Amino acid sequence: MKFATKAIHAGQEPDPSTGAVMTPIYQTSTYWQKAPGDNQGYEYSRGTNPTRKALEDCLAALENARFGLAFSSGMGATDAVMKLLKPGDEVITGNDLYGGSYRIFTKIFANYGIKFHFLNLHEPEIINEYVNENTKMVWIETPTNPTMQVVDIQAISSIAKARNLTLVVDNTFASPYLQNPMDMGADIVMHSVTKYIGGHSDVVMGALMMSDEDLYKRLWFIYNSCGATPGPMDSFLVLRGIKTLHLRMKAHCENGRQVAEFLKDHPKVERIFWPGFTDHPNHHIAAKQMRDFGGMISIVLKDADLQETFRIASNFKVFTLAESLGGVESLINHPATMTHASIPKETREAAGVVDNLLRLSVGVEDIEDLLEDLKNALA
Ligand SMILES: *Cc1c(COP(=O)(O)O)cnc(C)c1O
Repeated sequence: MKFATKAIHAGQEPDPSTGAVMTPIYQTSTYWQKAPGDNQGYEYSRGTNPTRKALEDCLAALENARFGLAFSSGMGATDAVMKLLKPGDEVITGNDLYGGSYRIFTKIFANYGIKFHFLNLHEPEIINEYVNENTKMVWIETPTNPTMQVVDIQAISSIAKARNLTLVVDNTFASPYLQNPMDMGADIVMHSVTKYIGGHSDVVMGALMMSDEDLYKRLWFIYNSCGATPGPMDSFLVLRGIKTLHLRMKAHCENGRQVAEFLKDHPKVERIFWPGFTDHPNHHIAAKQMRDFGGMISIVLKDADLQETFRIASNFKVFTLAESLGGVESLINHPATMTHASIPKETREAAGVVDNLLRLSVGVEDIEDLLEDLKNALA
């Protein structure tokens, strides 16, 4: 099946008990057993629930994976992946990560004896310099948040395979519509479903997709044991959101392109980060591994101190100043004090997250209203 068909149908059949076309919200914690152990595959909703199962099968299909697991947040999904490791293990990751990923690595899992190497992965071969017998995993994010750096998934996957490391790709920014890391050799794809997949800024959820059965069983054991699993109502909302993922992504990409073009030569903009520009340093990799370039754009304001950056960020009428991204509505965010505030200043600035950087999540409103809003706010 092609993407649009999977977005609408994968994992979903008319309900066998009623014929309901839409997957019902199975709002139950437990299931009847005819005799102890004689059940219909469902025992307790922490581990399995039919609404969540439909969603998980749909998520797996979108990423060309065999298995999907939904979590109560993106961080819940990340937490489960890290629990595959044990004290003494080492992880190689990028130096330009989602702030919450950096925080859980350095403030939670470092305390459990796991060591993280934060590297600039533009030259993937650098990984080889850090691999030793304790290295177990490579965790990458592409495009990165918020500076839209793109790393070569295929090149990193070749190294990970040669060194027997599990490759995890946080695919939140691209969404499965734009990029499928499993097809490039990833072992696990992670999503903050909260963002493009959910798409309506009304649910917090995460997901992991994988094809190796043993890995799936290990992750399901963690998911069921630790219990960060989402409820049926949220699962239903995401199933509903996914039905328009392909339509929304097309519109995000189209509006994103027009906003990027508008901002590129704007006198108040010193730098712009959007992988669709041919002069973006990783444009060739983006063009190779992504189907289009998305609606996430960051800009560095010219000659703006923190106060002026705040003034501009608060000046918008259509774009809403808020954390998060990927919903139908356009959002603007000040990473240094909002999404990336948990990263120490020097580390943050070294990754390009300076005080005068603003991140836009371009929504699917009418493009003329978005451009007008940008024009007025930057005036
Ligand atoms: C939001 C986000 C996460 C965390 O997901 P939550 O659903 O907020 O827990 C992880 N990675 C990226 C790239 C994100 O944008």
